[in-house]
Amino acid sequence: MSIEAQYRERAKELLSSGEVKLVVGYGSGTTQDRRRPLFASSPEQADGLVLDTLCIANLTGYLVAEGLLSDEKRVAVFLRPEGIRSINILAAENQLNPDQILIMGFEPQQGEIRPLEGSNVADFSEYIITLSENPSVSESDTVIEKLEKMNAVERFSFWQDEFSKCIKCYACRQACPMCYCRRCIVDCNQPQWINTSPHTLGNFEWNIIRAFHLAGRCVECGNCDRACPVNIPLRLINRRMAVETLESFDHFAGLSITQEPLLASFKKDDTETFIL
Ligand code: SF4
Ligand code: SF4
Repeated sequence: MSIEAQYRERAKELLSSGEVKLVVGYGSGTTQDRRRPLFASSPEQADGLVLDTLCIANLTGYLVAEGLLSDEKRVAVFLRPEGIRSINILAAENQLNPDQILIMGFEPQQGEIRPLEGSNVADFSEYIITLSENPSVSESDTVIEKLEKMNAVERFSFWQDEFSKCIKCYACRQACPMCYCRRCIVDCNQPQWINTSPHTLGNFEWNIIRAFHLAGRCVECGNCDRACPVNIPLRLINRRMAVETLESFDHFAGLSITQEPLLASFKKDDTETFIL
């Protein structure tokens, strides 16, 4: 039986037995090369679940939808490794009870999908630790290297050009599982913290504030990058941030449900003495 068929059968069993009230997975998209989220609350609906290498979106953000977990029932979710890491962060930030989440994990490997053993986030602890010890080199690293060789004026000009395309649609925020605030700073207009006009200052304000907000929390799932309608390479910012937090603070986002948030903790031996 294919992995897709196994996962579909498992989802149907979980729903028929009442072990979960909902399965969040992937269904066919509007074109053959696209997948979209599928929410199955009955075995019949689970028939539409698909699982292949095109299933790339991190579905964790749907788990923090208002009221979804308030009845304390369990929800199953198809997750890649980045998704499992984001469950750890959401649990560490008290946004969900990890025992309510049944993980149906999978990872891409050599052009195919491989199942990940386990169902509770704790079952994947060793796997995530191994990931943190062997961070993969991504294509973005080469571009980042080129950017870092530029002088400050050239780099500013690169990002000024990229951010000048930003239309402040906030799709990057909506798609990010870590952006769960009910009211975002950009939605406030008294005071108006972030300029809404698409000029250089406003564009930098939004994108830099967002980057800092995600420091030590971004799991590099790429949801924001894929959601951006004007193709701003947000992945470069995310990747640079992940490398920085690992190298400077030995912090790999989403390591465990007890991991201290990077920006809300400090170490006494921190070299930044200005804090003390
Ligand atoms: S910032 Fe982008 S890559 Fe990072 S967790 Fe959010 S959606 Fe994923
Ligand atoms: S998705 Fe792209 S265009 Fe929209 S606010 Fe984010 S960076 Fe700007």
